[in-house]
Amino acid sequence: MAIKSFHPPQRVLMGPGPSDVSPRVLEALSRPTIGHLDPVFITMMDEMKTLLKFAFQTENELTMPVSAPGSAGMETCFVNLVEPGDKVIVCQNGVFGGRMKENVERCGGIAVMVQDEWGRAIDPQKLEDALKANPDARIVAFVHAETSTGAQSDAKTLVEIAHKYDCLTIVDAITSLGGTPLNVDGWNIDAVYSGTQKCLSCTPGLSPVSFNPRAQEKIRSRKTKVQSWFMDLNLVMGYWGGATKRAYHHTAPINALYGLHEALVILQEEGLKNAWARHHKNHLALRAGLEAMGLNFMVPEAECLPQLNAIIVPEGVDEAAVRSLLLSEHKLEIGAGLGAMAGKVWRIGLMGHSSSPSNVRLCLNALDDVLVRLKAPIRHGVGVEAANRLLAS
Ligand SMILES: *Cc1c(COP(=O)(O)O)cnc(C)c1O
Repeated sequence: MAIKSFHPPQRVLMGPGPSDVSPRVLEALSRPTIGHLDPVFITMMDEMKTLLKFAFQTENELTMPVSAPGSAGMETCFVNLVEPGDKVIVCQNGVFGGRMKENVERCGGIAVMVQDEWGRAIDPQKLEDALKANPDARIVAFVHAETSTGAQSDAKTLVEIAHKYDCLTIVDAITSLGGTPLNVDGWNIDAVYSGTQKCLSCTPGLSPVSFNPRAQEKIRSRKTKVQSWFMDLNLVMGYWGGATKRAYHHTAPINALYGLHEALVILQEEGLKNAWARHHKNHLALRAGLEAMGLNFMVPEAECLPQLNAIIVPEGVDEAAVRSLLLSEHKLEIGAGLGAMAGKVWRIGLMGHSSSPSNVRLCLNALDDVLVRLKAPIRHGVGVEAANRLLAS
């Protein structure tokens, strides 16, 4: 039998990413494919750089999307900045900090781990202590928005401390970009990477990155070649670079870039501050609703990431059954716990296009329905009203 075209069902995506993709982005993806060295395409690339600089709040010339998902943006930062023997301090408060350690070691670097409690922000004092104890450290790396737990760290302070000890900084801003304040130049971040499928509400598969002049200098003055040909920024810059004529490096994911361009135009139309405020308000509404039902957040409000809400699974409730009923009966996807949090929390994303009052209500209604059916100990029928009170304020 011949296999027919694939038609995915319609879902509401409220997990840790991907988030719901805007219809405008989906339309942009279907525009005609043109050559990746076509002058019109080059103009689009220049606009893309301008839009990414706006989103990151930076003037860095070396700002571009890596042609692969967020993990490749992470790897691009590490393979270019870490040389064999370099000591790197990695602050870990969740799953993604662990991946940074993997990256450091695969580059031949020495990772010094600074562990923090999962579900809490990174403690700046612990970083400072580690820097005092390791005066030969060259780089500090940390995750701004830990998607595995929903905790947000004070990136500005952590970067300040790193610079006091003459270290470069690598910051994972995959889930923060577009959802919560991120100011690459204002906070003096040296290297930063993000993703498209979280608060930018674009399809997955691209990773915006940005490097400041200090980071670029470190890349230019490397003693060894970057181990990855594909990610070597010295080569990629020939294609994405400013003044020089663009030369073939790899075939850009042309239509995917149309999608990201559109997602960034949408962000520009809304304005960064408005986007941050929208994420914050919808988070507070979801929180009010869930707490009225008797459910609890894992992260203290002051350290909470508005776009990723980790909710403690009540005792005796089968967390996987809840997610499965939400998907089959309400077409709603929420996330499971990751790593050490598996089985203990649900992760409800309110990212990008998915962060809307109607999704907050939909999620509260669906959870109420499913939890009551599974005889979970919650207060029935009070969530949406509590959320509405907040949304009306
Ligand atoms: C999603 C995510 C990643 C990985 O991005 P992919 O696009 O899945 O490769 C890395 N770090 C954080 C904090 C994330 O949320």
